[in-house]
Amino acid sequence: MKNRINLLDEITINKIAAGEVVERPSSIVKELVENSIDAGADRIIIEVENGGKSLIKITDNGCGIPSSEVKKCFLRHATSKIDKIDDLFNLFTLGFRGEALASICAVSKLEMTTKFEDEAVGTKITLVGGNIEAKEAVGANTGTSIVIKDLFFNTPARKKFLKTDHAELMNITDIVNKLAIGYPNVKFRYLNAGKLMVNTPGDGKLVSAVRSIYSREVSENLIEINYDCSLFKIDGYIGNNNIYRSNRNLQHIYINGRFVKSKIIYDAIANAYKSIIPINKHAVCFINLHLDPQKVDVNIHPGKIEVKFEKENEIKLEIMEYIRAKLLKQSLIGKYETFD
Ligand code: ADP
Ligand code: MG
Repeated sequence: MKNRINLLDEITINKIAAGEVVERPSSIVKELVENSIDAGADRIIIEVENGGKSLIKITDNGCGIPSSEVKKCFLRHATSKIDKIDDLFNLFTLGFRGEALASICAVSKLEMTTKFEDEAVGTKITLVGGNIEAKEAVGANTGTSIVIKDLFFNTPARKKFLKTDHAELMNITDIVNKLAIGYPNVKFRYLNAGKLMVNTPGDGKLVSAVRSIYSREVSENLIEINYDCSLFKIDGYIGNNNIYRSNRNLQHIYINGRFVKSKIIYDAIANAYKSIIPINKHAVCFINLHLDPQKVDVNIHPGKIEVKFEKENEIKLEIMEYIRAKLLKQSLIGKYETFD
């Protein structure tokens, strides 16, 4: 080791940080679609090729970016969503870290066309490995379209860690399904190499989004839930005893609109379904949990996929009891013996 300490330049910092935010093509799809949702879009088109390795294109009809802000949004920690730390506890957007675009553009070839709703002319900007190559005024519809090509072209070590096109595509599909069901008011179109994979109606009904993505077997075996107590509100659908899976892919849990992995909720569900579905199987559920944003910490994971909230144990117990009671009402308890 040399004895000199270097201050890394912005592009190197972004390439390093990209390791956290942009692990793989599906994480890019997640970040970009979340940006579209934050921009108020109600139509989002996602196009990918080669599992997202050669192309990811996201087009939205959100508010767009003012031409004066277009360069800025690629800077690290540049965000229009918060301006002080307290805002994190009063957050109504999915993004807040101002890292995604900076990270993504550092490890890809990116082209963005955007037109802000209050401006007449749009902007097209091209970046290669985080360097701005061109910026021009263009005619465009209100909204934003981002094309990401040649992911990790300048970080070969990262590129090597990508899985097969098929495996990466499966990850993207999983994320798109989760986002589309989490936002049934948004019409999602998802295409792989030109082939339509997902097309949700955007009619605001969770069950319509579920129906357009999963089989009838799933949508016809759901029980509606809706519960409001002092600690939280919960709504959505849970599967009956006819449907269960060997993994958690069909457990969609959203906290304040954010898709999350939550051990607390997983446990509550597993306990509620004891003796209803076989041991080692996972129930199907599409659950929105609404918590006071003041009591949720969304900033514990760079991908924002985990969150922490207050009174976890009380909430866990109350959700478990509510779901259990709901299943009991349908006389579903006792179909399978438990062994503990
Ligand atoms: P964050 O979402 O945490 O703010 P990003 O790096 O994802 O950070 O985006 C930076 C900024 O660029 C956003 O705060 C927003 O102002 C703008 N932006 C990004 N994507 C879009 C989009 N699709 N529509 C409108 N504005 C966008
Ligand atoms: Mg973002």
